[in-house]
Amino acid sequence: MLPDDCSHEKIGRLPSIVSCSLADIKERREAVVLTTEPAWDVVKDLDVHPQLIYVDGNTKADMTALAEACEGEVVYGIGGGLAIDTAKYVAAANGLPLIALPTVLSTDAFLTNATGVRENGCVHYLRSKAPDTVIIDMDVLCSAPASMRAGGAADVLSIATAMWDWQEAEKMGANPSTQQVTPQAIGIGSTLLQTLLENAREIGSGTPTGLKLLLDLLCMEVQLCYLCGHSRVEEGSEHYFVYAIENHVGVGLPNPYDKAHTESETIGGEPLLHGELVGLGILLMAALQSQPWMQYRHALECLQINYRPSAVARDAIAETLIDLFDYVAQHQLPYTVATTLRITPDIADRTIQTILD
Ligand SMILES: [Zn+2]
Repeated sequence: MLPDDCSHEKIGRLPSIVSCSLADIKERREAVVLTTEPAWDVVKDLDVHPQLIYVDGNTKADMTALAEACEGEVVYGIGGGLAIDTAKYVAAANGLPLIALPTVLSTDAFLTNATGVRENGCVHYLRSKAPDTVIIDMDVLCSAPASMRAGGAADVLSIATAMWDWQEAEKMGANPSTQQVTPQAIGIGSTLLQTLLENAREIGSGTPTGLKLLLDLLCMEVQLCYLCGHSRVEEGSEHYFVYAIENHVGVGLPNPYDKAHTESETIGGEPLLHGELVGLGILLMAALQSQPWMQYRHALECLQINYRPSAVARDAIAETLIDLFDYVAQHQLPYTVATTLRITPDIADRTIQTILD
């Protein structure tokens, strides 16, 4: 029992994870289901009679409106990162239990206790809640489209560039006292990364063994972040590049695709996945960090993560790189390679050419 005045931060913990077939779910409570049309199509035989809400935005205003409209006894988030992230917010705002049913391992959002929202051109995380239960139906995950199936692996592969950034910041004395590097965190992060690299082909093939391993790696990555008390081990310059390019491309569009660790909005009808943008960010930043980036490109190929999304033009990549120095300063993002490196048009072109050609 903790004393009443105990002010210690609680260490986050993973939701309980249940492996079962969707056919075994029988929900008798009044359920509010947050989902997307393609995801609902996958699970439409589910024995739940819900208030059904299709999610298509992730600004704070979108989330607040949904939270106010919610009437029920239990919240379900069904789909990828966007639907589940929104369900976390809605459940937390209404003090309701939350069940997450990922139809694709496209991000780590179904495991975390925060909801990414876009505000003022950047991504912020609102404390929401972790799901109380995550239901894993391996048949559903294995039948997801190959291009999305293992997208969440990009949030493990991002350890490659994020951990470099975090260690560089330590060398420069730029980490706050609550975010000091420890050799243990680096050791564990390196092991997760290495395990992903060694099993990329199995994971990308979408076998039950491969996707179970990806699930385990995502669990361990999220738990490591909880123990550290921050996400520096997996969120660095590669994610900042993603936030910046989403902002860059999204400006002026009626439906800006602004996802944090969420996914799949469209631009001009082309789906854009978090894993694809993070994959691109990892390659660019690894090259700028003078890391051996080719092993990461090989891993993305084995994972079937398309790191060259056709909806993102080369010009947009170049402009985002050139502006990144100002972007990370403006949004006061933690120290990374983007903090000190001024990327000239020439460096931008060469880096893009190096990793994409
Ligand atoms: Zn991410």
